[in-house]
Amino acid sequence: MTQRIAVLGATGSIGDSTLAILAAHSQDYEVYALSGYQRLDKLFALCQQFQPARVCVPVSEVDSFAQRLNEAGLRIDVVSGDRGLIEIATDPQVDTVVAAIVGAAGLPSTLDAAKAGKRILLANKEALVMAGEVMMETVKRHSATLLPLDSEHNAIFQCLPLAIQQDNTQIHTASHGVRKLWLTASGGPFLHESFAQMQQASVAKAVKHPNWSMGQKISVDSATMMNKGLELIEACHLFDLSEEMINVVIHPQSIIHSMVEYRDGSFLAQLGSPDMKTPIAHALSYPARIDSGVQPLDLYALSGLEFIKPDLQKFACLRLARQAMQAGTQATIVLNAANEIAVAAFLAEQVRLTDIADINEQALSEIQVPLLDAHADIDDILAIDALARRYTETLVAKIAYGT
Ligand code: NAD
Ligand code: MG
Repeated sequence: MTQRIAVLGATGSIGDSTLAILAAHSQDYEVYALSGYQRLDKLFALCQQFQPARVCVPVSEVDSFAQRLNEAGLRIDVVSGDRGLIEIATDPQVDTVVAAIVGAAGLPSTLDAAKAGKRILLANKEALVMAGEVMMETVKRHSATLLPLDSEHNAIFQCLPLAIQQDNTQIHTASHGVRKLWLTASGGPFLHESFAQMQQASVAKAVKHPNWSMGQKISVDSATMMNKGLELIEACHLFDLSEEMINVVIHPQSIIHSMVEYRDGSFLAQLGSPDMKTPIAHALSYPARIDSGVQPLDLYALSGLEFIKPDLQKFACLRLARQAMQAGTQATIVLNAANEIAVAAFLAEQVRLTDIADINEQALSEIQVPLLDAHADIDDILAIDALARRYTETLVAKIAYGT
């Protein structure tokens, strides 16, 4: 039977990779709905190519986009804004939601997809950083399925025994023997550069990742290693582990995508070319396997896989992520919000790359937020997110305008 897919964030990098696989397997997957926020010409072209039943655009664009589709003879239902994303994510016709919006903007639709019991392919790590407990609890309560697209988490998922894949609380059962998780990190474009060089980095240099081609925000996060920090928090929620059970190791070749260490001394790793189409194909077809179109690894050409301990002074964001995870959800929300504002300010050339960690640290230590307990809901989460964004804007302004 064909699976009906909604791709939220269809115009981005994960959207591209997902749609390439869906196009190659059109007999098994139907592109039922798409969303885009910027690059609406690209979204229009995708509507022509895939002819989805529904499309979501920003509120301000709904009339002009609908008219454009009409003129092209395309009968597609146009919805808009956050409400439109939720309509698509919960549409009874949809089996699988690919959550590939970047940042906090992806949280409400992902959470509602869980409430609607969907199969969710999660790229939007920020949703788990902000609302990990609520999200995991909602997935369980509504018998939704959450499959990680982030390459590291997808790798770990693949290296875990079936019983844990199906029920993450089983990771605590000693008989499964998991001792630790190892998240690999590429180290980004500044791995071998000094802090001073990093301080002077241009936007162009910071977004040029050595191994992966990704959206701008995650590329900056990789340069500061905040990405690995967010992934550490993501892993704690996905696999129901505390942060000390998860190690980070820099592996500049990005061939091993992460590992599970077992008590008998075994390390299980997932290897592959650094191409997101592999984890996406895995999650789309799980538990079956389909062709992803990715070049197989040439093992004879591979040599010298390196493993390096991260420098937490140079990559302070990684230290901050552990600290926030220990402090609790309210702190991970603040860290995520502060980081989104700081990264946007760096991309707008208002602050330096190395200011991002300072801004995040200041936000974490200065913003007074209530402790969130297990009963916190999405409104509590969004209120802390909004407060943290407003406060961080003032921190950015101080640096940008030297006040
Ligand atoms: P991207 O910037 O290329 O694309 C982001 C998508 O989100 C676009 O379709 C954009 O239109 C949409 N979007 C942006 N702001 C929005 C808003 N306010 N409302 C609605 N839609 C909005 O980003 P990406 O690299 O594809 O990353 C997407 C997510 O996947 C991120 O959370 C990222 O951390 C995660 N991820 C990406 C990669 C990768 O290789 N690109 C790998 C692992 C995880
Ligand atoms: Mg990743």
